[in-house]
Amino acid sequence: MASSIGPDGLNEIVATVFPEPLATLPELEQRYPPRELPENAMVTRVGPSPTGFMHIGTLYVGLLSERFAHQSGGACFIRIEDTDKKREVEGAADFIYDGFDRFEIAFDEGENADSKGPYGPYVQSRRAGLYHSGVKHLLEQGLAYPCFDTAEELEALRARQQAVGARPGYYGEWAAWRDRPIEEVRAAFRAGTPYVIRFRSPGDMERKVRTDDMIYGERLVAENDHDIVIMKSDGLPTYHLAHIIDDHFMRTTQVIRGDEWLPSLPTHLQLFEAFGWTPPAYAHIAPINKMDGGSKRKLSKRKDPEASVGYFVDLGYPGDALIEYLLNLANSNFEDWRKENPTADYRQFVVSFEKLRNSNGPLFDFVKLDSISREVVARLSTEALTAELLAWADVYDAEFAALLRQDPDYTTRILGIEREGPKVRKDIAKWSDVRPEMEFFLDSRFQQTPAADNPLLENVAAEVPQIVASFMETYSPDDDGEAFFEKLKTIARDNGFAEKAGDYKKNPEAFKGTVADVAKVFRVLLSGRAQTPDLSSVMRAMGRDRVFARLNAAL
Ligand code: GLU
Repeated sequence: MASSIGPDGLNEIVATVFPEPLATLPELEQRYPPRELPENAMVTRVGPSPTGFMHIGTLYVGLLSERFAHQSGGACFIRIEDTDKKREVEGAADFIYDGFDRFEIAFDEGENADSKGPYGPYVQSRRAGLYHSGVKHLLEQGLAYPCFDTAEELEALRARQQAVGARPGYYGEWAAWRDRPIEEVRAAFRAGTPYVIRFRSPGDMERKVRTDDMIYGERLVAENDHDIVIMKSDGLPTYHLAHIIDDHFMRTTQVIRGDEWLPSLPTHLQLFEAFGWTPPAYAHIAPINKMDGGSKRKLSKRKDPEASVGYFVDLGYPGDALIEYLLNLANSNFEDWRKENPTADYRQFVVSFEKLRNSNGPLFDFVKLDSISREVVARLSTEALTAELLAWADVYDAEFAALLRQDPDYTTRILGIEREGPKVRKDIAKWSDVRPEMEFFLDSRFQQTPAADNPLLENVAAEVPQIVASFMETYSPDDDGEAFFEKLKTIARDNGFAEKAGDYKKNPEAFKGTVADVAKVFRVLLSGRAQTPDLSSVMRAMGRDRVFARLNAAL
C-alpha cells in the first residue's frame, strides 16, 4: 500500500528533505560491488557501539564472526555503530579497536585495519550520505514519510492507546502522519517543525512471516506493522536503517549477533524487502549468562564486573585463555579438540553453527576459565611467559615489574621452574597470581623468621640446626631431583626421621617424623611457606649462595 500522496507530492517531500544531490542506489551498487570470493565464503562483521565499555559479548561475537569468515576463506570487518550520539563516549572506538587487537582478533577491514578496505567508511556516523540515499529512495517510493509529532503528541498517543487497550506504537490508524495531505506536510515544513522520517510499514499483524535463523531455525512470527523511525531529527539514521544499508553495501553474507535483536528481525527483513535486496543469513546467539539467586540471567554491564572484557585484562588473564574459554562456550567439542591438539593454534579448530545451537545461554564459569587458563599458561615457553607477565605488570603492578627486571637471569630461572618435562606446573591462571606465588624468591621482599620462632616448624624446631648442618655438608646444586631427594632421605635417616611415610605410620614412636618434615624445614626456611614448587628446583633457581644465606639467617 503506497502513500496517498501523488508523485508530485512525493517529489516535493524528497526535495525538501534532501535538497542536496545524492548518489542513487544503482550508483551505490556500482561503487560497492559484490565481493569476489570463493563460493560459500562468508562475509561477516561485528558492529560494536562505542560506549566506552567492551562487553564480553562483543568479544564473543567478534571472535565468532572472525572465525566463521576466515575458516571459510571469507572476510570479516569491524564497523562502529555510533548513530546514537547520546550514548557515545570520546575515544570509545579506539578502546574497542585496542580491545580486539589485544586479543589478536584480526579484521580484514575497518578503520583500524591495515587496509581499511573498499567498502568503508566503517563508522556509521561517517556514512550519512549513504543512509540519505536509502531514505530518499524509500521516500520516492512512498515507503517512508516525514512525521512531525512532538514528544508530547507521542505521549498523548500512548495515553489514548492505553485508555482503549490498544497495542502501543506508531502504526496503522494511529500513525497520524502516515497519510497526511501534502498541504499539511508542506505547512509543517514551512513552519520549521522538527521531524523524523518513518518507514511506511506494509506489514499486517494478522499475517505471519517466516524468519530463518541459523541458531533458532525457522519461525513463523507476526509481521511488523510499526512505522519505525528510520531517520532521526538530527539527520542521522536509526540503527535499524543504518545496518540494513551497511550490510547490503558492505556485502555481508552472515550476521552473527546477540539474540536481543531477534524480535527486530521481521522489521529488518521488511526493510530489505522494501529495498528489493536479498538479506544476509542470520545467526542470533544467546548471551552469556550467570546464575543469580536461583535463576539464570544475562551478564549485566551494571551489576557484573565480569561483563567487561577489561576486568579479565586487569586481572591478567592471557588473551588466549579468554578466547579459548569463549570457544569452549560456543562449541562444546572445543575441549576435546584441544586435548587432541595440545599445541595447535586455536584457529585450527573449526567452529560450527550447529554446535553453537546447542550452547543455549551458556553460564559464565570462573572455575572453567581458570582451568583453561592454567593450560594456556602451561603451554607458554618461559620466555613468552616472562614477556607476557612483564607486559601486564608494567601496567598493573609497576613495583613488581621493577623487581623482576632487577635481575633478569634470576627472574628467568624462577619463572622456568617446572616448566619443562612431563610435569609442567599449572598453578598460574592469570598474571596477578604470580606475585603472591613467587615474591619469596626476591631477596628484597623476603623476610626471614628465626627457625626457633617459626610456628610452621614448631614440631621440629629442636632438630633444625642439625638437619641444616647435614644438608650443608652434602648439598650440590648439580644434583638432579632424584639425587637431591636421595640426599634428603639420608639426612632424614641420620637425624632420626623415617625415610618413608609408611614406616612412620607403622611405628610412630620410633621416629621424630618423616622425610616430609625434613623437606618442610627447607621449604619454610627458604620461602616462609609450607608449600612451594618442587624443592630441588626452587634451590637450583635460588642458587647455592642464596640458599645457604637464608638457612644461616634462620639459625
Ligand atoms: N550495534 C549493535 C549492538 O551493539 C549491533 C547489532 C548487530 O550486530 O546487528 O548491539
